[in-house]
Amino acid sequence: MIVYNLRCSSSHDFEGWFRNSEAFDTQANEGKLVCPVCGTTDVAKAPMAPSVAGTKRTATPAPQQLRQMRQFMTGLRKYVQENADYVGPNFPEEARKIHYGETEERQIYGEASLKDAKELLEEGIDVAPLPPDLDEAN
Ligand SMILES: [Zn+2]
Repeated sequence: MIVYNLRCSSSHDFEGWFRNSEAFDTQANEGKLVCPVCGTTDVAKAPMAPSVAGTKRTATPAPQQLRQMRQFMTGLRKYVQENADYVGPNFPEEARKIHYGETEERQIYGEASLKDAKELLEEGIDVAPLPPDLDEAN
């Protein structure tokens, strides 16, 4: 499983989880990569941030970065909740049914253990973690 930093045509940065680089190419070619902020399918891999060897950088993000991250995660969660069906603990089962064409194809979200998620990915079913609900947490 690999994680790519993605960026849409409006410069929204987000992460995409893929089984391998081919899965990324396939989804990109089929227009299945959607920006969680603005919904465009014009999404590409973001250029890697250059890393400079030997310089010490603090791991703590600046307050503005934290705020942006928070806005992004809240936006992503909202997008999923508005566009996907909540299936609760049936997530692994529903995801398989959709993958194998046993039920209507749609976006779903719900509960899955790390083990479930790993098994789904191994079967070729793309899953991604939903960010925590920060508004509720505070
Ligand atoms: Zn966007």
